[in-house]
Amino acid sequence: MQTQIFSFGDSKEKIEKEIKMCKKCPLHKTRKNAVPGEGGNRKRIMFIGEAPGRREDELGRPFVGAAGKFLDELLDSIGLGREDVYITNIVKCRPPGNRDPTELEIKICSPYLDRQINILDPRIICPLGRFSAKYILERYGFDMESITKVHGKIYKADKILILPMYHPAAALYHQYLKEELRKSFNVLKNIIEEEKL
Ligand code: URA
Ligand code: SF4
Repeated sequence: MQTQIFSFGDSKEKIEKEIKMCKKCPLHKTRKNAVPGEGGNRKRIMFIGEAPGRREDELGRPFVGAAGKFLDELLDSIGLGREDVYITNIVKCRPPGNRDPTELEIKICSPYLDRQINILDPRIICPLGRFSAKYILERYGFDMESITKVHGKIYKADKILILPMYHPAAALYHQYLKEELRKSFNVLKNIIEEEKL
């Protein structure tokens, strides 16, 4: 498990600014806009996707395409809005053609996510999809089996609860995954009520 040692002087805005100017990996050459993440932190819930898609790259904002619409619908179904949660990705720039992010890209980019987690100090983290679930579960010392095994389950790490979910983009074409995501959001709703967030 990684623990926060020193983050004096770091802030959400500082990290977002650095990401917008970042050239640490080759994805900066093909992106239009880096997508740092956005949202409020009222409920101390973080959603972590994979990487920006075309629309996100054009606008510099996370989950604003078709998958984002579905995510908004899921949030709304349990009474949450974007101002309640922070939404970001493991990799902040769009991989060309929406290919999967590489291990190297994740390794180079993920320190930004680590800093965002340290600053936002979430009570609940919801990784969306297998890349994000693997990164987050391993970060907190859990083994990542397949997303089919871990989705919708609650993992407890210190004060943080991790609730991995299927990726909303995958669910767009598979009715079964849509239903599983709705179930995961109901689990989230129950946690919010129990924890009085
Ligand atoms: N898919 C993601 O993983 N992240 C986004 O921001 C958009 C689509
Ligand atoms: Fe920097 Fe991450 Fe974008 Fe690569 S993907 S250029 S590491 S912000």
